[in-house]
Parts: sequence; C-alpha cells; structure tokens
Amino acid sequence: MKNLSIFFFPLLAHGHMIPTLDLAKLFSSKGVKSTIITTPRNVRHFEKAIDRAVQLGQEISIKVIPFSAKENGLPENCECADEVPFEDDMMPKFFCAMSKLQPELERILDEFRPDCLVADMFFPWATDSAAKFGIPRLVFHGMSFFSLCAIHCLTIHKPHGNVVSETEPFVIPTLPHEVKMMKMQLADHHKEESDTEFSRLIERVKESELVSYGVIVNSFYELEPDYADYFRRVLKRRAWHVGPVSLCNREIQDKANRGKESSIDKHECLKWLNLKKPKSVIYISFGSVAEFSKSQMIEIAAGLEDSGHSFIWVVRQEKNDELLPAGFENRVKERGLIIWGWAPQVLILEHESIGGFLTHCGWNSIQEAICAGVPMVTWPVSAEQFFNEVMVKDILKIGVEGGSKRWTFRTPVEEVKREMIAGAVKRVMKGEIAEGMRERMIALKKKAMMAVEEGGSSYTDLDDLLHQLSDK
Ligand code: UDP
Repeated sequence: MKNLSIFFFPLLAHGHMIPTLDLAKLFSSKGVKSTIITTPRNVRHFEKAIDRAVQLGQEISIKVIPFSAKENGLPENCECADEVPFEDDMMPKFFCAMSKLQPELERILDEFRPDCLVADMFFPWATDSAAKFGIPRLVFHGMSFFSLCAIHCLTIHKPHGNVVSETEPFVIPTLPHEVKMMKMQLADHHKEESDTEFSRLIERVKESELVSYGVIVNSFYELEPDYADYFRRVLKRRAWHVGPVSLCNREIQDKANRGKESSIDKHECLKWLNLKKPKSVIYISFGSVAEFSKSQMIEIAAGLEDSGHSFIWVVRQEKNDELLPAGFENRVKERGLIIWGWAPQVLILEHESIGGFLTHCGWNSIQEAICAGVPMVTWPVSAEQFFNEVMVKDILKIGVEGGSKRWTFRTPVEEVKREMIAGAVKRVMKGEIAEGMRERMIALKKKAMMAVEEGGSSYTDLDDLLHQLSDK
C-alpha cells in the first residue's frame, strides 16, 4: 500500500476535535502520515496526545493556521466553541470566523499536497478547496448513521409539517424502525423553512457531501446495521465506518488526556472511585458546550441528593457555590464528587464503580458509554442529541428518559424537575430495567471491541478506505 499522507481539519469544538484526533491516531497506527490542521490556541488540546503517539513511533503532526477572533467581533482568545460567549449573535460570528479559514487551508493544501483531506461537515467549502489541487475530500460529521439517515428523511419528507402542535408525535417516514419524534425536539433549522446564515450553511453542507469522495462515520456496523445499510444502499452514500474511535486509547494516560486539561488529578479521581462499590456511582456530564441555568443546577443537585446514589457530577463552569443549594457539597461529601471544569470522562466511565451515565446524548459520549458498558439516562439539549436519544432509548434500549423535551441552542429554558431526575437515576442504577439494559450494554461493548480488532467490521472498513485511497 502507498505511504499515504492525510490531512485532518476538525471543527473548532471539543466534540469534533477529540474524535478527529482519535481518527488521526488511528490512521497513523496503520502507517499513514497524519497531519492535523488547527488554530494557535487549539494546539494545546492536541499536543500531549501527539507527543505520545510520536513516542510510540507514529507519524503524526500539527499545522497551525491563524484565526482572527477580534476581527470577527469575538472576544480575544475565543477559538473554540466552548469559549464562545452566550450572547445570541456570538455563535454565528464564530461560524463566520471559521469560514474565513478557507484561504489558509488552501495555502496548506497547495504547499503539502496530501493524498486526502478529512474535513469537518461544517467546512462545506473544503471539498472545492481540495478539488483545486486534485485532492479527494472525506466528510466527517461526528454523527451516527442513524442520525444521518433520520435527518435526511426528516428534511425530505417533512412529517412535522402535518402536526398541529409542538407536542403531537409524528413518525419519520421510510426508516427501518418506527421513529417517533415531536416538533419541539427539532432544531429550528430542521423544523422551519428559514433563511438564516446557519440554514444556508446547512444547505451547503448537504450539497458538499454529495460531491465529496465520501463520508467517514465514527460508529461500528453491529451497533446500527440497518442504518449503515440504509445510508449506503438507499441514500447511496459512499461511507466507511471506523469506530468507536475512542478505543484507540489503550493506556490510562491516553484515556485521561482527551480534550482540555482535566480539573482533577486522574489518580485522585480513580482513588475516589476505588472506594465505591461496583456499579454504585452515577456519572453526570453534559459535554463540552451545554450549560444550565442556576435553577436547573439546583434541581439537578436536589435530584441527585434524593436519588440516594453516589455520583460524580461534572459542571462545565468554574467553581461557584452559588450555583448549588446551600450546604449541598457538605451534605453529600461522602457520596458525591463535583468536578468543576473538565473530567477524564473515558477513564471514569470505564471504572467498575460506575453504574450509570446521565448524559446530554452527544454522540461521542454515547459511544464512550457503550465501550464502557454503562447504561444511560438521556437528557438531550441541542445539535442532533434528540435523535441520539431515540436511538439509545427506543431502538437499542440501553437508556431511560431523563425528561428534557425541547431542543435549545445551548441553555435550556424548560426545566427538568428533581423528581424526574431522581426517578430516572434510580431506574438506571437498580432493578429489572437496569439489569436488562446492562446486559444489552455488555453485549454491545463486546461487539464494539471486536469491531476495531483485526478482522472486525471497523478495522476492515478502514483498511478498505486506505486501499482505495492508495489506488487513486
Ligand atoms: N469530555 C471530557 N471531559 C469533560 C467533558 C467532555 O473528556 O469534562 C469529552 C467526552 O469524553 C467526549 C467529548 O468531550 O469525547 C464531548 O463530545 P460529545 O459528542 O459527547 O458532546 P459535545 O461536547 O460535542 O456536546
């Protein structure tokens, strides 16, 4: 096989940079020379992992391109989605700033002429940029086959156009399962014919996918065979599934060093978990972007307290006791650990004391839960997370509903009450429903492990992709 050089260009958001780094490591473990393109402040999120991979003899490096936050009306040092302030107009400004990276990307492609460019879905112009230099472009969405298919069918058939209220369920036509959703669970750009910057971007994303070389999916065939087939056979997309990519991290150090610097020492965290009984702790995290109001935080705290279970709760904000009920930390100090900032998620999920995961249903988090065999409480907020909830809860039956019902961009306005939270936590941790989910999870975990081993479905698909690229 030819000695391939592949460039990876992730969106500036942890939920995209983390799996793209894993992808780059996975490719370089197969002898590919991998290069990640990113902006100055994001280098720190890749550096450690890349140094480790290089020490292990892999060829992987970074190319840095400039990013102008201030020129685009963003605060200085705002280079990643989680650094974008919460004001309404800031996210569009951030996307606008990212779209201006095209000339820099082209300069790099012109200079280095890689054999392939793997670029994030949100850079639709990357297909044209790559084509200028005769380079094939692969799209990375960071989504499941299920979500890709469901979103496609929703936009084509518009079943939400036939309901009279936000809460009347509709079925998304032509999918392998009866997928029921409500209008309130859809993103604005999915439910309305709008003409905004973002809806135009989504249109360009769709068009660019059709003319790109194909799609890389962070998933494995055995997890969603009907949708992997539907995507390829019915929607006629060229796609390769190579996941779960997080499984390329085998050592503690690699599992602990993903994304931002952890706010807790990994040994301290493991020590805390070691003192707990097997399957007795619930882990709570809402990913890298979603954030809650103070009153919702108080409901979460009360729900956890009422559930009676031990917990690790990751709160994205800086430490602020005002966000918690008075005396909360003291009352739960024996059984609760609050991590303010960033947690070593994969390491925590894989610990034998973890019995459940209350998650915002980000696709990376779901796959990490599957790889750890941990059933979930679903609490979707944004992006395609409500589709992921359907997959977890209704199709795979590996999660119970947490009670969030309305799609929001970042900070939910409708609250989930403490009784719902406590009830869902109890259901996922103990009893017949929990046992059933745990059994299905263990089976899926085994399949995930096998998929990435030699001869497994993801291993084989990656080999197939690399062969096709080297024959070009
Ligand atoms: N993550 C982490 N520590 C945290 C929060 C998140 O390691 O404290 C990682 C998590 O393991 C996952 C990614 O960040 O790999 C979040 O991606 P996901 O798709 O779940 O959600 P997003 O952040 O994109 O909403």
